[in-house]
Amino acid sequence: NVRVRFCPSPTGNPHVGLVRTALFNWAFARHHGGTLVFRIEDTDAARDSEESYEQLLESMRWLGFDWDEGPEIGGPHAPYRQSQRMDIYKDVAQKLLDGGYAYRCYCTAEELDERREAARAAGRPSGYDGKCRVVAPEQQAAYEAEGRASIVRFRMPDEAITFTDLVRGELTFTPENVPDYGIVRANGAPLYTLVNPVDDALMEITHVLRGEDLLSSTPRQIALYKALIELGVAKTVPQFGHLPYVMGEGNKKLSKRDPQASLNLYRERGFLPAGLLNYLSLLGWSLSADQDIFSMDEMVAAFDVKDVNANPARFDLKKAEAINADHIRQLDVKAFAEACEPWLRAPHAPWAPEAFDWAAWEAIAPHAQTRLTVLSDITANVDFLFLEEPAEDEASWAKAMKEGSDALLRTAREKLAAADWDAEAIKAAVVAAGEEHGLKLGKAQAPVRVAVTGRTVGLPLFESLEILGRERTLARVDAALA
Ligand code: GLU
Repeated sequence: NVRVRFCPSPTGNPHVGLVRTALFNWAFARHHGGTLVFRIEDTDAARDSEESYEQLLESMRWLGFDWDEGPEIGGPHAPYRQSQRMDIYKDVAQKLLDGGYAYRCYCTAEELDERREAARAAGRPSGYDGKCRVVAPEQQAAYEAEGRASIVRFRMPDEAITFTDLVRGELTFTPENVPDYGIVRANGAPLYTLVNPVDDALMEITHVLRGEDLLSSTPRQIALYKALIELGVAKTVPQFGHLPYVMGEGNKKLSKRDPQASLNLYRERGFLPAGLLNYLSLLGWSLSADQDIFSMDEMVAAFDVKDVNANPARFDLKKAEAINADHIRQLDVKAFAEACEPWLRAPHAPWAPEAFDWAAWEAIAPHAQTRLTVLSDITANVDFLFLEEPAEDEASWAKAMKEGSDALLRTAREKLAAADWDAEAIKAAVVAAGEEHGLKLGKAQAPVRVAVTGRTVGLPLFESLEILGRERTLARVDAALA
């Protein structure tokens, strides 16, 4: 039975790296009919916040993820917030100390620094040197009497650790590279190094899929797992797979603080969850060489962690937008119209709320659906319908209104006033007006478009005018001529 976990720390706005990790775990769980455990790693009181926690949950729901155990739904290993599991960690830390798998380390920060420097200077490995592995009882009593603080340090085995990464294949870490490490702070607070594998063990996680940045934790966690198995706390060591780095601008690792990395940015710009997830899945995986666009159902059906590419993935905003555009095209019109609604209402919309008209929106929606890349662009595309006057855009105005434009607009007005009011007849009127002035359709429609919509580019003009109505169209032409 496959059990995987998604275990973020609520330390700020969710970022795309986190979403990709969630996605791959979710797809893996669903592909295998397994269980996805959602755990909140909120043991760092200084960095975690309730607001981030709420935002995280809300974002996961927006993306359409579901989980089988975790916040809001509970499960057999509750609670799923580490801040509520402190007694468990205390108990396990004590067992590790009692069993000799961990020890109290009394080295001060200055002492550690000094020895690290000396090791470096001598060209020796600069990790913890094991000084407190063996402390005579009298020495320990002296330290305690001095009031020295102590942390709990895990004792790494003196042999190499080898495991088969699900993405990278066999990896070996030698003892010099994995020194003994802290698991409980001097103030008694347990660290990620302890709580993460302890919970994975207690929650019976079978596969750990996470970012490559955590690869160096894995040999430590495997060693800790072996201790937990001997202590009867864990049953088996999970399998690990490390997802590739995501590179941003300038081929630098995309960092959480990079504005491009913020999930909220994509929501605000109007990415569809399906489009964003489709794109993020390509950061390390692909459905096939010739199919970039697919649904989450298709991903779930095909997902195999062995197909994840170990090489760094490049984040490409243009590609993300192109994929999103495809997903917009695939919606049925009604779903598209509804998906745009947030941008058509306050506070996004620049028009008065009562000016918005759902029937006009439904009429124009099919024309917008074939053109949008992100939903937030809808506002500028349809504002001519709901604003009292067309948007003012001097550059467009200057570009379209040339010598002779007035004469053309006058002729067009006459013909539009007499035309049947449908797109085809409107087009014929503009064509005829252009002919009178020796202008091809493209040249003839530019001033009409700017007079009525305020812009040189936009949705198909004749359909737009049909929906706007004759009266308002003529009034805008008149205003342009005045
Ligand atoms: N809470 C850790 C993080 O957000 C989880 C790391 C892991 O998956 O082991 O980085």
